Parts: sequence; structure tokens; C-alpha cells
Amino acid sequence: GTPAGSPANPPASKGAVRILQLYPRDMNIYGDWGNVLVLKQRLAWHGYEAVILEHNAGDTFPSDVDILIGGGGQDSGQVVIQQDLQSNAAHLRSLAGDGTPMLAICGLYQLFGNFFKTHDGTVIPGIGILDIETHGGSERLIGNVVARSEEFGDIHGYENHSGQTFLGPNVRPLATVTKGEGNNSKEDHEGARHLNIVASYLHGSLLPKNPAVADFLIREAVTRKYGSFEPGDVDDSLAELARRHAAARPR
Ligand code: GLN
Repeated sequence: GTPAGSPANPPASKGAVRILQLYPRDMNIYGDWGNVLVLKQRLAWHGYEAVILEHNAGDTFPSDVDILIGGGGQDSGQVVIQQDLQSNAAHLRSLAGDGTPMLAICGLYQLFGNFFKTHDGTVIPGIGILDIETHGGSERLIGNVVARSEEFGDIHGYENHSGQTFLGPNVRPLATVTKGEGNNSKEDHEGARHLNIVASYLHGSLLPKNPAVADFLIREAVTRKYGSFEPGDVDDSLAELARRHAAARPR
């Protein structure tokens, strides 16, 4: 017979985890969709099945979501989704308050905050889950980033944004930049951490090179849903190789 756990005879799933990608149509640049693929694959390695859902502007918000994830977008994409985001703001705030793990990258990170005032003076209101504000400038912050986090170790990624984000007192930075700019050109923080939300300017996409962040989202989701999380035996040597390559890149 085929040994248990071989591709022909996979072990029974320990359960399903529902991942909702927010606004993939308008907010998905520099490969941010890759974050969803990483969660799906790592969930499989840990023995869980991923169910991937999408929410675009105008859709009915799905029920029973375990992880929310959303990417970056051009200022114009952010304008397109702003109304839909506002109409789901109360629900998103309550999911966040309940501890639903969320990953918000760049353009969505900005809109999880209080507002984004773009370079041309347009104010896009945010949903205030994160105590941050963002001001567009004429300068774009572009390049490879390394940022140190006590929680996740070194975080590697790539930034490209004109918005400069400033944290209020009710949110903490995700990490401290050791290469690149991060949230803004004046301070050395990158991203934000609050509740079970990880927010970051970093593309790449972020999760392939940062499995500690991916597994944080998975662990929180599985623990909330099933009471405990037993990680699988995951081989992260490729991610390690990618991290070493990224660390050696110039800005
Ligand atoms: N449009 C926003 C900015 O330029 C976000 C860009 C992004 O998501 N990469 O600041």
C-alpha cells in the first residue's frame, strides 16, 4: 500500500482555514497576491486546508473568515475601494477587535488608518483600525528594506510608496528599519502592530521571505478556531536562501 502522508495518500486535514483577500481587483500590486499563496501552502504543510475567498468593491462581505489579507494599490485604486471599505468598516473593526489575524500591505495599510491625504490633496478616509495617518509627498520611497522586529526577527521586503505614515500612541511599530525608509523618511519604523494585525509597507511579496510572519497569522487563526495549533514539520531552507539573497541586495 501507499504510505500514509505520501502525495497519493495525504494525511487527513486537521481543519479548514478561511482566508479572505480584500480587494484583489484594485489592490494587488508588486505581487502581493503571493501572500495568499504562501498562507495556502504553509497551511497545507501544517496539515490544514485553505479556503480562499475574495472580496472586491460591491461584493457582499463573506461570513466566517479566519484570516484577512490585503495588498497595496495605486492612489487611484484606493479611491475606487474607499466607499466599499467604509461600508464594511464597522464589521472590519469588530473582526479586528475580536482578534482576527490580518495582514495589510501598503495601500491597504494606509486605509486601515485614520486617513491618507494624497500628494494631490485628496483625503481618502480610512477605517481607523490602526491609529496612524498618512500624508502623500512628492518623494517616492523606493527600494529594498530590512527591518528588525523582536517578534519576527529581521523582516525583508521591497517598498514603493509616496505616502508617509506616522503612528499615533495607540499602535506600535512592526519593526525598526536597518536598510531603507519604512513608514516615513523621518523616523526609522516600518509598519504597525496592533491586536492580531500586522501592517507593513513591504511587498516582494512579503510572506515568502518572512515565514515567521506567515506562521503568526496561521497560528492565531488556527488557535482561535480549533483551540490549539500544532505546527507541521516545515522545511524553510528556500525561504532562508531568499532571505540571505535579499539581505545582500543593495538598497
Ligand atoms: N498609493 C500609495 C502610495 O503611493 C500606496 C502604494 C502602494 O501600495 N505600493 O503611497
